[in-house]
Amino acid sequence: MERVVLRTHYSNEINPGMDGEEVVVAGWLHERRDLGGLLFLILRDREGIVQVTLRKDKTSEELLERVRRLSKESVISVRGVVRSDKRAPNGYELIPREIKVLNVAATPLPLEVSGRIKSELDTRLDSRFLDLRNPRNREIFRIRSEVLKTIRSFLDERGFIEVNTPKIVAAATEGGTALFPISYFEREAFLSQSPQLYKQMMMATGLDRVYEIAPIFRAEEHDTTKHLNEATSADIEAAFVDHEWVMGVLEELVAFVYENIRERCGKSLEILGVELPEVKPPFERITYTEALELLTEHGVELEWGEDLSTPAEKTLGEIMGAHYFIVEWPTSVKPYYTMPFEGREEVCKAFDLMHPRVELASGSQRIHDYEMLRASIEKHGLSPESFKFYLEAFRYGMPPHAGWGLGIERLLMTMLEIENIREVILFPRDRRRLVP
Ligand code: ATP
Ligand code: MG
Repeated sequence: MERVVLRTHYSNEINPGMDGEEVVVAGWLHERRDLGGLLFLILRDREGIVQVTLRKDKTSEELLERVRRLSKESVISVRGVVRSDKRAPNGYELIPREIKVLNVAATPLPLEVSGRIKSELDTRLDSRFLDLRNPRNREIFRIRSEVLKTIRSFLDERGFIEVNTPKIVAAATEGGTALFPISYFEREAFLSQSPQLYKQMMMATGLDRVYEIAPIFRAEEHDTTKHLNEATSADIEAAFVDHEWVMGVLEELVAFVYENIRERCGKSLEILGVELPEVKPPFERITYTEALELLTEHGVELEWGEDLSTPAEKTLGEIMGAHYFIVEWPTSVKPYYTMPFEGREEVCKAFDLMHPRVELASGSQRIHDYEMLRASIEKHGLSPESFKFYLEAFRYGMPPHAGWGLGIERLLMTMLEIENIREVILFPRDRRRLVP
């Protein structure tokens, strides 16, 4: 049986040096230009564009008519001969031998693909499949894929083991109400807001160093440019280490991601018009108390023991100007599983990794002592009974451990200087958006 070849080359795999060779390209009809004796079809594929040149005197009237009627964004495959021509994009054109129309696009298009006409983000997200035909929007996802690969290879290299923990859970991670309830047969269950409890339980197994890259679900009703109701978190947990150690892993990881993306995604960054700054560990560390002092100097007053507000984060970011850590948080601000400092229980071994624009990650050394954890759960107004499955893991030999959770979309939006977090996830989930 003969194999149907709809593509032999991507546009960037063809060059003027291939003059005279036959190739097959495939993609979308980006544009058509009718110029006197010539008809140009601009075909767009993932890697760029190809100019297909039809000489009217050498083309059948039937084909010319078919091509003239073809709507923009229709899917075509063109078999043709490469002809070097300095005037054409990338220095070559394709003289077609056969043009196959694989699927005709309906008209009018709900969205202008070229991006020359600016569309509202909402309109773009409604027609996301078309929106991502625009290279500027699509390249974000090529970078996203590379970021995830980079994180995996970095953590694998350091002896971390990738795990998958349940996303359907019976209890809240941190108490609070930011949970999506679901019906689970005859019971109520929830979508997981964080792998926190499960990755900690892994520390009692001897796996020692684990990571997970997975969705987190948060039912917060916020409508901001930095929150999603379904986000992606890269989480690690490591045994026999403290918070300082996992902070080291985190800052080296972020620096490595920047370096790797600069190296591997040069073309995508160029399309996005982004130049990545040098990110060099170690990052600056300021204590929570120092942060409050800095804020006071800049006219923002916060009570000791309050969480940092968005305006406070913004002011601090302007002062710090690069990635930095906030350490030594009030114990009352952070979750019950956070380890307090010995002898000064009012502060704890928690840290936030900040980009000047937003928080990127939160982490800490955890309480590994059963009685202490039980007491902390109670102190936070929660019931140890509902955490029984988790607490059990602390009774039969739990090593000291620490970890963090890093928001993948936050990392991407800050790295790529993108205003709205919705742009760096394929199909964002927010208060109003459940479809597509
Ligand atoms: P914020 O205070 O910025 O809302 P958080 O402190 O509630 O974040 P954590 O529970 O510390 O978030 O989660 C760890 C990381 O996961 C955050 O630093 C952030 O990068 C990411 N993250 C958390 N919630 C969201 C969300 N709703 N949308 C996008 N990313 C999130
Ligand atoms: Mg946090």
